[in-house]
Amino acid sequence: MNQKNPITSEEILARATALQDQIVDWRRTIHKQPELSFTEIKTARLVQSVLNDLGIEAETGVAKTGVVGRVVGKNDSGGPTVGLRADMDALPIQEENGTEFDSERPGLMHACGHDAHTAMLLGAATVLKGFADEGRLPGSIKLLFQPSEENRDDENLSGGERMVKEGVMDDIDAIFGLHVDSRSTVGKVGTRPGGFLAGGDSVKAVIRGKGGHGAAPHMANDPLVLAAHFLLAVQNIVSRRLDPLESGVVSLTTIHGGTAINVIPETVTIAGTMRSLTPEISQLLEDEMRRACKVVEALGGEVDLEIIKYYPPTVNDPEATEVAVHGLKKLLGNEQVHEPKPVMGGEDFSYMLREKPGCFFVLGVKGEDWDQDYPVHTSTFRIDETALPIGTAALVASAVEWMTQKG
Ligand SMILES: [Zn+2]
Ligand SMILES: [Zn+2]
Repeated sequence: MNQKNPITSEEILARATALQDQIVDWRRTIHKQPELSFTEIKTARLVQSVLNDLGIEAETGVAKTGVVGRVVGKNDSGGPTVGLRADMDALPIQEENGTEFDSERPGLMHACGHDAHTAMLLGAATVLKGFADEGRLPGSIKLLFQPSEENRDDENLSGGERMVKEGVMDDIDAIFGLHVDSRSTVGKVGTRPGGFLAGGDSVKAVIRGKGGHGAAPHMANDPLVLAAHFLLAVQNIVSRRLDPLESGVVSLTTIHGGTAINVIPETVTIAGTMRSLTPEISQLLEDEMRRACKVVEALGGEVDLEIIKYYPPTVNDPEATEVAVHGLKKLLGNEQVHEPKPVMGGEDFSYMLREKPGCFFVLGVKGEDWDQDYPVHTSTFRIDETALPIGTAALVASAVEWMTQKG
């Protein structure tokens, strides 16, 4: 690759910073008009028009309401194609911030920062197109504006999963994406190799015994007692079956059964959640949950076990993470790049990371002088907008670093 005039970190930061007002304006425009999963029509239209104004070809209707753009650099000489991803959907929450750009749609709010993600990726598109036009981009960029991170459609697919199914990842060599982080301050970014966010599956167990009169338990097979044995067997999964150096959660959180004090019911229903940071542990939790059902069977009962797969664990590729961290440290300074603990929340970026190497990182959006956090998924979630150009620069830096090292 011709590296006569390589892109520098200083240039990336300067060009992103110069776009601050524009990125803030995009973010507020999207923030005022939040749209739920797979209904991101206005947001997609804004994305399309910005990309077209930049001279970037944009394909709409990807994964229903998503947009994919392409910034073509020096691909003729075999440069890599790097994917950058932002999610676009909002949540069914009534905003209570009281700013001039509060949501204008009752009951709907960008409470997970996806408005900021979309605006930052538009900023990144602007910066990257600039470098491409100067003939200095050592590869190509695929911009993925995905719908529906927060929810699944009637075919049980989320937006990221649907993009993967439609082949969007096929011509991508590596993928990078970010999420706002309400707990770390502006200027900081964080990531870690391996499992970063958890995969979560929901579990429902219908425990079948034999109903009867409360005064004649010997004629019945009490499903409450069977449920008690099952609950205890499940407690052994994490404590006795999981390697102490690995992590996993099994929480059975609801239990329902019975209608009268003198009636032994036929069934008891127990449900809960299982979370883990690797596909292997996820499988182990599932296998051990099935094994726990055997206790009920040994006592003459039956269990209908239903495991509903939610998002898989978000697992960062070690090499792509090293590349991204190197680029981010050059951009922001070593002390601004931290390695957070894994998070037990989930992300559908995980589907993209299953396809190609990549790295997901978090961007601090907490104001320096704020004395409290405003967490995502709450009615007062907010960000310090000075984080926006930093996020834009971080996306550009990750992509450019990959292209430079791998080109
Ligand atoms: Zn969310
Ligand atoms: Zn989110």
